[in-house]
Amino acid sequence: MTNTGTSGVEHGELRAADLATVAEQLGREPTIPFTVIARCTGGHPLVIRNAPVDAGGAPFPTTHWLTCPDAVKHVSRLEAAGWIARLNERSENDETFRAELAAAHEEAAEDRARELLEARAWGGVGGTRRGIKCLHAHYANHLGGGDDVVGRWVAERVEPVHATQRAHRVAAIDQGTNSCRLLVLEPADGGAEPTELARDMIITRLGRGVDRTGRFEPEALARTIAVIERYCRRARALSAESIRVAATSATRDAANREQLADAVRRAAGSELEVITGEQEATLSFLGATRGLDARDGPFLVVDIGGGSTEFVLGREPAVTEHATSVQMGSVRLTERTIRSDPPAPEDLDGLRAEVRRGIEQAAAAVPVGEATTFVSVAGTATTIKAIALGLGRYDPDRTHRTWLTAAEAERVLDQLIGLTNDERAAIPVMAPGRGDVIVAGAVILVEVMRRFGYERTLVSETDILDGLAFEALGVR
Ligand SMILES: [Zn+2]
Repeated sequence: MTNTGTSGVEHGELRAADLATVAEQLGREPTIPFTVIARCTGGHPLVIRNAPVDAGGAPFPTTHWLTCPDAVKHVSRLEAAGWIARLNERSENDETFRAELAAAHEEAAEDRARELLEARAWGGVGGTRRGIKCLHAHYANHLGGGDDVVGRWVAERVEPVHATQRAHRVAAIDQGTNSCRLLVLEPADGGAEPTELARDMIITRLGRGVDRTGRFEPEALARTIAVIERYCRRARALSAESIRVAATSATRDAANREQLADAVRRAAGSELEVITGEQEATLSFLGATRGLDARDGPFLVVDIGGGSTEFVLGREPAVTEHATSVQMGSVRLTERTIRSDPPAPEDLDGLRAEVRRGIEQAAAAVPVGEATTFVSVAGTATTIKAIALGLGRYDPDRTHRTWLTAAEAERVLDQLIGLTNDERAAIPVMAPGRGDVIVAGAVILVEVMRRFGYERTLVSETDILDGLAFEALGVR
């Protein structure tokens, strides 16, 4: 798996509500699939990232597109004042500026080339490789995490776009075994919910091979560091005052984790938090249960990760009472037990045996069966729900806090087992890099439901990442 794109657009995630808002912002139906990668105060889309080609297969010139009407208006004023010509003149006369601009085009081309190889030759900010064509494109590129000298120049002149923008925004990055995720939040008044300014996920497979070698692979490490750097630039562009980076499971076991810590120190300006299994459990519980009705407790939260699975129990939302982490995760178990594609019956027997052992280990530490409400977090459960719903593209608004029945989970598992890695990867709601490990994750989910007699589970899009950000904001 070599996918290192920088946005969730590759797996087609799009909220129906955003589609409607963006159509209104643009004054027309968007002609190309997109994902929202940055939002303004209040939560409306600020920057969208377009798919590389339109429905007819023609390359689309601009990757990042500014959609907030107020932001567009402010930038248009700079263009009307003649700044494109003046900045182009500056790039002719100022060598440093010219080199920085060239680097921004180069980076944008490389970024696009991950989805569309031919774009390496002609791609760049605003669909050009030379000079400055559109200040909106540069500003959007900057907000998306691009290292863009012109985008920064625009930001200094147009921000804050909304006078109502609130201070003390925070960013959290959760570096897991399989994926790297970003969340940027703006605090709200009193008990109101914080506003989500950015949420993103990229599969980097940092934990690949760690189980076997005890080290990060150099390629996986480089890929991950590039994603973290881009996330940190986006977080800063969105005025996050602090960036918290936490790493779980695989990082705890990696001998060369100092390389990751150095990169985080440089990019985020904070120390990498290598969190323990127990901290991981507490943060997952906070992220998953905050806001649920206390009368539905006790709650069990199961977080199926790439390297480990957390079982957390508490009578009230956000307050952990029992927690354990078992070294059983979708990537780890796939590497250990799956030898054939599609998995052979003996692979599945081995997988189930490992999962059952892990569940008994969890049951010995946490009274798993005592919960009234079983909450499932992370990509395995949300993807299974999206498949059960038959969604044509991933929409977290359709899955968050909906029930997945045991019968649905079993049906989807049966379906996934019968497919090859390529066929699973081709399911429209499947995130890149998840197709070959989801069988192991699904077996964990189904076996937990069978073992403790849960007839349904509440699927949650909020998890440890939200827990990290809520804690940084100081909300409970
Ligand atoms: Zn706006």
